[in-house]
Amino acid sequence: MTSVSINKVRKSYGPVNVISGIDVEIKDGEFVVLVGPSGCGKSTLLRMIAGLEEISGGEVKIGTRVVNDVSAKDRDIAMVFQSYALYPHMTVFDNMAFSLKLKGISKAERETRINKAAEILGLTPMLKRFPKQLSGGQRQRVAMGRAIVRNPQVFLFDEPLSNLDAKLRVEMRSEIKSLQHRLKTTMIYVTHDQIEAMTMADRIVVLNGGHVEQFGTPLDLYDTPANKFVAAFIGSPSMNFLDGTVRNVGAAPLFVSADGTQWPLPQNCDIADGQKVTYGIRPEHLTLASGNDGIAAKVRLVEPTGAETMVQLNVGDSRIVGVFRDRVAAGEGETLRVSPDVSRVHLFDATSGLRLV
Ligand code: ADP
Ligand code: MG
Repeated sequence: MTSVSINKVRKSYGPVNVISGIDVEIKDGEFVVLVGPSGCGKSTLLRMIAGLEEISGGEVKIGTRVVNDVSAKDRDIAMVFQSYALYPHMTVFDNMAFSLKLKGISKAERETRINKAAEILGLTPMLKRFPKQLSGGQRQRVAMGRAIVRNPQVFLFDEPLSNLDAKLRVEMRSEIKSLQHRLKTTMIYVTHDQIEAMTMADRIVVLNGGHVEQFGTPLDLYDTPANKFVAAFIGSPSMNFLDGTVRNVGAAPLFVSADGTQWPLPQNCDIADGQKVTYGIRPEHLTLASGNDGIAAKVRLVEPTGAETMVQLNVGDSRIVGVFRDRVAAGEGETLRVSPDVSRVHLFDATSGLRLV
């Protein structure tokens, strides 16, 4: 168990900057997820922490030790990859024993550790099997077992669930989370999947183009995204955005979209009249209104999932999505009325994309 400090860390390949000055402080025992679109630098950052990639600038500290010049094998970390990288000609037991043998750990100690890890992971009956005799989920567990037996100070996971089918992925993500809670080992976990990040992390680092957009708890990111990028990236379906202007002269402030549609704002919203903003409202924060309440929205498509109904809508010239708990009887081309939950409206600066409200 230990903390990890990433201070002003940079990475460039020749003239190309891939990571540009990242600062992240990971606490002892914390489960931190690095999330972001493909190519944003997640694996590069993780590999620099692991010592598999040289650091172009800045400093990585594991505990109190600066590890920039410490080789991967001496960093006391264990990494799990998307491709599991199991040795096909070795049994499950031998796969887990391999790195312990290299470290000169005694046979008795190896057996104790492997049996314990196998028990935690439900692999005890499979110790004598070869990787090809295992399912994808079981192979994934062996890869984790190999990391656990080393008793590392930090676990590093790079998209470990990407090769599993959807149902198994959901199961494994709760398994990994409860495993981490039990072992209390600091974990840095990379994924491009925001749901995985939201459900597993104590705190999430949202990366984009080699820099940090926001670092916070899952609900911080959902409730108060620092900017439009985070607002759009976290949550599914994605937040609706409308461009327009704040009108703050009458009794109640209003947002007026480019096509003239009026949307309510929180009463205490103190944005100057005339300011250009982007209005953000999540699909799940729209409700169906009755009578003349709410805003007219023309149905483009109704997508029921059973538990809820997703409706693609046109409001003026804008396309938005609503997710409703109720069944929606309206068909394509019909007009519904929707109301945003005013307490959950977001406003972003039209130019910088930074959060205003
Ligand atoms: P992610 O894991 O977020 O998908 P990566 O960390 O793998 O992204 O890659 C980040 C960026 O660095 C990408 O644009 C990728 O093309 C670039 N990159 C990765 N490795 C190299 C390399 N060896 N040489 C040049 N560019 C690289
Ligand atoms: Mg990657």
